[in-house]
Amino acid sequence: MNIESRLAQIGSLHDPETGGISFPVHHATAFRHPKLGQSTGFDYSRTKSPTRSVLEQAAADLESGDAGFACSSGMAALQTIFALFSQGDHLLVSLDLYGGTYRMLEQIMSRFGVTASYIDTNDLDALESQWKPNTKAVLIETPTNPLMMITDIAKVSAWAKRKGCLVIVDNTLLTPYFQRPIELGADIVVHSATKYLGGHNDVLAGLIVTKGEELSKQVAFLHNSIGAVLGPQDSWLLMRGMKTLALRMERHQENSVRMAKWLKEHPAVAEVFHPALPDHPGHDIQNRQSSGNTGIFAFKMKDARTIEPILRHIRLIAFAESLGGVESLMTYPAVQTHADIPPEIREAVGVDDRLLRFSVGIEHIDDLIADLSQAIDNALNEIGG
Ligand SMILES: *Cc1c(COP(=O)(O)O)cnc(C)c1O
Repeated sequence: MNIESRLAQIGSLHDPETGGISFPVHHATAFRHPKLGQSTGFDYSRTKSPTRSVLEQAAADLESGDAGFACSSGMAALQTIFALFSQGDHLLVSLDLYGGTYRMLEQIMSRFGVTASYIDTNDLDALESQWKPNTKAVLIETPTNPLMMITDIAKVSAWAKRKGCLVIVDNTLLTPYFQRPIELGADIVVHSATKYLGGHNDVLAGLIVTKGEELSKQVAFLHNSIGAVLGPQDSWLLMRGMKTLALRMERHQENSVRMAKWLKEHPAVAEVFHPALPDHPGHDIQNRQSSGNTGIFAFKMKDARTIEPILRHIRLIAFAESLGGVESLMTYPAVQTHADIPPEIREAVGVDDRLLRFSVGIEHIDDLIADLSQAIDNALNEIGG
């Protein structure tokens, strides 16, 4: 069945007693056993819970994996995955990384003796030269946030297999609607489902999908043992959001491409980072491995002094952290999402004080362009340009 149909039908017709089209929210944390040695399949809700199970099966199916795990946030999903590693292990990690993941690796995992090297994961020479005998995994974000660097997942997965490393892909930005890393050779996919999968800026959640029986068993053990699991109400809310993922992603893509093209022509804009633009260095790989583009991208203004007034003058577009919801949000990475990354590393990658990240929502494109246009005009007036 096509992914649009599978998304729309998540949880449908799963309630045999009532025939309810929408799956119920099961709040029970404990489940009665029919008799000694028997179970309904549910014992205690940290281990397994009916509403969460429907979501987890859907996640595994959508990402072409073997098992799904719903966590209380994207960071909870990443922490659960990082618990696969032990003292002395080393990870190769995408350079332009989500700030929270960098913070967890550098300020928490490092205390447990797990180290990481940050590189352009699309560069096989860099992977080869940074690889050590204790390297256990490659963690990829593609596209990266905010600079939209692209990694060839199939190429890196083939390399990692030869080295005996796991490949973990944070697929938050494209979602399984546009990109399925496991089909390209990855072992684990993680999501901040708070973003596009939830889609409405109203539920915090994370997902893990694993490929292979042994790995799935290990992650099931960690998910239950760590206990950062998603509650039933949030599991239901997330499934409700995911039903419209296909429609939303199509509109996010259309709006973000049109917005990027408009900004590229704007005289006050220095650079636009969007993989749909033919001059983007990752354009061809992105087209090959993904069936579409995400709704976020970044752009650099010519003059840093325009940033503060632009953020003050946008009205329809909200100045806020996060991404992936139906409402458009503008973020200033240098002071918000990437504040925990040291300035020298940030600037070496290109996250400087002229960079804005735009999570383009599903509003009418004309309204979005009009709003940003007036904000830039006002900013230019204020700085006397
Ligand atoms: C937001 C985000 C996370 C963290 O997820 P939370 O749900 O906020 O905990 C991880 N990776 C990426 C790419 C993100 O955008």
